[in-house]
Amino acid sequence: MSTMIETRELTKLYGDGEQVRALDGVNMAIRQGEMVAVMGPSGSGKSTLLNMVGGLDRPTSGQVLIDGQDLATIRSLDAFRAQTVGFVFQLHNLLPTLTALENVEVPMRGQPIGRRARRERARELLTLVGLADRMNHLPSQLSGGQRQRVAIARALANRPRLILADEPTGNLDTAAGEELMNLLADLNLSQRTTIIVVTHDRRVARATGRILIMRDGRVTDDHAVADPLIEDLRELGRSQLGQRLLAGRIEELGPLRQALSRDGRFTPEADYLVSVLRGVVD
Ligand code: ADP
Ligand code: MG
Repeated sequence: MSTMIETRELTKLYGDGEQVRALDGVNMAIRQGEMVAVMGPSGSGKSTLLNMVGGLDRPTSGQVLIDGQDLATIRSLDAFRAQTVGFVFQLHNLLPTLTALENVEVPMRGQPIGRRARRERARELLTLVGLADRMNHLPSQLSGGQRQRVAIARALANRPRLILADEPTGNLDTAAGEELMNLLADLNLSQRTTIIVVTHDRRVARATGRILIMRDGRVTDDHAVADPLIEDLRELGRSQLGQRLLAGRIEELGPLRQALSRDGRFTPEADYLVSVLRGVVD
């Protein structure tokens, strides 16, 4: 697969005088068709990175390359955004007085597409995101999860090759969040859309193929999402229980002590579990 997005020493400073280094030399590459999660503490630069990659704002220094072309050399960032990128934000930003159908049509208005074709496509997209029976509802008549699905349908309107989603599940409960991620993962597979999704939720991140971790404006970790079983074991390894197992602190195993040890030693099964955990924890 070819590289779709590349950043080179991407740096963004905000403010004058006491400047904030929102991005501090980010180097990364994302291939066509990948689905990537970006995690990291609040203020670490996740939204800034998305905004730079989506051409919403310009870097202070460094480059964003899309299909090898530097965004700084693209004549119209507006046209680039309209044709290549679909944005989904934490707050859906739907227009409150328009129906779901009309909201999905909005981005197509600036495009050379007739009224009937526009309406037809909006219908198709709402059906795709599972809202065939909610097309004429206003945002206020939809649940949070349904509104986000309208926002995704709207983001898909101009057949973008890239979807940038900034904490799209931030305001949703766990079940609705999971459904939304499944929808994005489906789109990633069926339409080969490249997707970058910012999230605070490990479970959400695990629905993707790769996780970038940011800290203080830098990418500090970049790893493929493993098999779900391996991810579960890693999680166990990071937990308090896992840490105690790895440290051999049998006396601190609490209620599990009886099951995992005999005469002050791990049982053979517990020994085996510890050796497996050693293999997956880095
Ligand atoms: P995240 O999305 O990871 O929470 P952001 O990319 O929003 O982080 O912000 C990174 C840093 O840049 C933060 O310190 C934030 O306060 C600052 N920042 C972001 N946008 C602006 C702006 N428009 N003006 C000034 N500072 C900003
Ligand atoms: Mg943010």
